[in-house]
Amino acid sequence: MTDCLFCKIAKGEIPANIIYQDDNMVAFDDIHPQAPIHKIIIPRKHIATLNDVSNQEDWNLVTRMMQTGTMLAKQLNIADDGYRVLMNCNAGGGQTVFHIHLHLVGGRQMTWPPG
Ligand code: AMP
Ligand code: ZN
Repeated sequence: MTDCLFCKIAKGEIPANIIYQDDNMVAFDDIHPQAPIHKIIIPRKHIATLNDVSNQEDWNLVTRMMQTGTMLAKQLNIADDGYRVLMNCNAGGGQTVFHIHLHLVGGRQMTWPPG
């Protein structure tokens, strides 16, 4: 999608501190980190919200997002202490960028319930 911030980051049209990428996934630092470690993991394919994941191929991308988040948590040495992976869906869920993304947050004690 041409007018999507995360599509532009995936294509290298907008700078980001990319920490991992492969044929399907891109991961980078969140610009407004909410914890010492706050990474964003996206599929290269534009899918606006979780509600728009409509076929098995897209669900496989969601699985890949989780796999990438878990792999990065281990690489970043927060896996044993613990971390949080989450996706916000639509405005009521707190989504502000409409290209699906997984937040990987760690490096401090998480609290529950979230705000
Ligand atoms: P959400 O509120 O779940 O849609 O999450 C969007 C996330 O993208 C927020 O945590 C923002 O801080 C982050 N964000 C917005 N713009 C950028 C950017 N240019 N580079 C990196 N992260 C960004
Ligand atoms: Zn997009």
